[in-house]
Amino acid sequence: MSVAEIAAEVNTKLDAVRATLAREVTGKGDVCLTCSFQAEDVLLTKLAIALDPHIPVLFLDTGYHFAETYTYRDRIAREWDLNLINLLPEKTVAEQEAEFGLLYQTAPDRCCGLRKVEPLFKAVAGYRVWLTGLRCEQARSRAALEESAMFSLPGGKQVLKLAPLAEWTTRDVWYACEQLGIPLLPLYERGYTSIGCEPCTSLPLDPNDPRSGRWAGRKVECGIHIQAAPAK
Ligand code: SF4
Repeated sequence: MSVAEIAAEVNTKLDAVRATLAREVTGKGDVCLTCSFQAEDVLLTKLAIALDPHIPVLFLDTGYHFAETYTYRDRIAREWDLNLINLLPEKTVAEQEAEFGLLYQTAPDRCCGLRKVEPLFKAVAGYRVWLTGLRCEQARSRAALEESAMFSLPGGKQVLKLAPLAEWTTRDVWYACEQLGIPLLPLYERGYTSIGCEPCTSLPLDPNDPRSGRWAGRKVECGIHIQAAPAK
């Protein structure tokens, strides 16, 4: 595919995302966006704030992120004047480690539950719409991702979860970021292809699987994208 063809394809996709955001975000105050500060999330944030500069941007501040991620988050938040909301777990890292040890080694599901799932679900319950930068191509576990779906939170509340970039490829994301002048998290330059908490992120183990560096293959999702089972 030529550069001109790539540009045309990405521009068409950008128009579609902008149309989705205009429909769901403009003039509506009960929409939030989760941002890990990885490329697709930052791209979606850039497109969303063009319509609503005050849209709540939720960041899961687990306390275990790379120093580079915190520095980049603060830079983007400052330069884009984001309405950034850092979601904190109930316990600090020191408190959790004093009580339970290194859960990311012994029980990563529990660690993700305490530091990601609980704070995120609690926050998202306050909104009608939850925007995410999730993409089908990111992982096999996301292959059936839908652009729009109702998501059940623990307790039964449902939110409309939108993934406007669901069909985007990594190439699309990187091309769009370049075209829009979006600086990316410097960790990509060191070879990381999916970036989360530092203790659970390594360089990809499988070059064909961008999330293969997460949790050293012990699990594939932190749990925030898995909805609660229906009440019986
Ligand atoms: S990704 Fe690792 S460090 Fe972060 S919350 Fe999950 S288990 Fe804990």
